[in-house]
Amino acid sequence: MTTPVIAIHGGAGTISRNSLTAEEEARYHEALAAIVGAGQAVLNAGGSALEAVTEAVRLLEDCPLFNAGHGAVYTSEGKHELDACVMSGADLASGAVACVTNVRNPVLAARAVMEKSEHVLLVGAGAEAFAARNGVATVGPEYFHTDARHEQWLRVRGQSRAMLDHDAASFVFAHKDAPAGVAEKAPIDPDNKFGTVGAVALDRFGNLAAATSTGGITNKQPGRVGDSPLIGAGCYANNATAAVSATGTGEAFMRTVACHDVGARMAYAGNTLEQAAQAVVFQQLPKVGGRGGLIALDAQGNLALPFNTEGMYRAYGRGELAPVTAIYAAQA
Ligand code: ASP
Repeated sequence: MTTPVIAIHGGAGTISRNSLTAEEEARYHEALAAIVGAGQAVLNAGGSALEAVTEAVRLLEDCPLFNAGHGAVYTSEGKHELDACVMSGADLASGAVACVTNVRNPVLAARAVMEKSEHVLLVGAGAEAFAARNGVATVGPEYFHTDARHEQWLRVRGQSRAMLDHDAASFVFAHKDAPAGVAEKAPIDPDNKFGTVGAVALDRFGNLAAATSTGGITNKQPGRVGDSPLIGAGCYANNATAAVSATGTGEAFMRTVACHDVGARMAYAGNTLEQAAQAVVFQQLPKVGGRGGLIALDAQGNLALPFNTEGMYRAYGRGELAPVTAIYAAQA
């Protein structure tokens, strides 16, 4: 029997060591440890990798610290459009939803698409109707609101470009016209959450799975879909290579098909998981200006958690061992 492993991320970005107070840091570590612990509990009770990543991402979506589900970012029209994907490495089964506005847990809708439809990706109103028909909980738009996200959007609204959470925070920090007090506040605001959420897991039967969920990027155009719900770009799992979930500048992850590229390098070039993940994050993504990171896990239980930003909220747990959590570079 394989020792089960699970890893999660809560987004990558400009998270410098002096931008979070000790108390704020503690909140993130606590949330990450609790959620990875819940995923470990699923695996240790004999649950599948698919069940574990679904549960971990569901909890990350419910946690307002992270940009997915409750606490998602705002579009240029002041609304929320959510994307999610889930994939099983045993049979390459996959399901995804994009641009949903009333699904409480987009990862559960993605799972329903995978298990209860003949399709892989449903978007917009069709995805919402399918989710409701299949018993996935729906909510009003106010459910996704958090004051911090709303304030963040108000600051960048009217700018012609969309921004990653972390970019929005840095932009405000640097912008000469930022309102008084905001310029200093933005990067240290504990509620200025960074990026997408995701999970990868290996179960005791040797199966891999991955899941990714996001609110996308602040001030994005209505209808914009990023990498997160696209198989191979922001999410991928194949027992023969790896389970991978990404966070960062979505368009770059789409153009480099980043998560699939990790597996392809292992399959075709004989890379180890570590070599493949490093090449994608430090060589391929930067070629197209890609910033962010990914979590990757192979069927032997090797883990790689590389990122080319200052930090990435991340955690992992092996078997019954206590969860390991980290935020900045040069940690776990
Ligand atoms: N990759 C996500 C997107 O582009 C955003 C993020 O990870 O911060 O939608």
